[in-house]
Amino acid sequence: ALGVAFFTRWLTLAAAAVDREADRLTELDSAIGDADHGANLKRGFAAVRDVLEKEPPQTPGAVLVTAGRQLISTVGGASGPLYGTLLRGTGKGLGDSATVSREQLAAALTEGVAAVGRLGGAHPGDKTMLDALGPAAGALGESFEAARDAAERGALATVPLQARKGRASYLGERSVGHQDPGATSSALLVAALAEAAA
Ligand code: ADP
Ligand code: MG
Ligand code: MG
Repeated sequence: ALGVAFFTRWLTLAAAAVDREADRLTELDSAIGDADHGANLKRGFAAVRDVLEKEPPQTPGAVLVTAGRQLISTVGGASGPLYGTLLRGTGKGLGDSATVSREQLAAALTEGVAAVGRLGGAHPGDKTMLDALGPAAGALGESFEAARDAAERGALATVPLQARKGRASYLGERSVGHQDPGATSSALLVAALAEAAA
């Protein structure tokens, strides 16, 4: 069963991964965006790590809702509200039980992904974070490793796509041939989830 410690470990590992990969995320965003994705997420996840340390929530759902709220209030770019909505929506989907199963997390993550879709209006194949998150939520029903691999494949599969949402969409056809920064950071978050479970 997955409890508060597991979810805190996930987000702490995510913060470390974002820190480690910030330059790469910013490089990807400099090709098809405004070169701030690494800095945005670094700031956001550092704040998440701090709030979880200072005011440890009592349930898995509360960990994710608290983290989501923190991302929304500390990240200025599009990714802050979107990732914030993902974590809040997933946290709400977990309810207030003290522990949850991987299957319950998969169902809640599917709700979180749907909330991101409603907020940003993106669909699969629009070259956004959803192209990594959607497949990951589906595969999490199978295993943590399957979710990690699906997110990684989804991020790689954004390369040939033309962006239809977010700043990259302003480039039209020139967005083709570059990996989406948000799909790339989503793959990092799902890899951190698998790492927390290992
Ligand atoms: P900004 O574009 O405001 O600078 P970031 O650079 O932090 O924000 O994040 C950009 C990422 O956000 C994109 O690579 C994409 O994955 C994601 N994104 C942007 N708009 C949307 C949207 N409408 N729906 C889903 N994801 C989006
Ligand atoms: Mg940007
Ligand atoms: Mg920006």
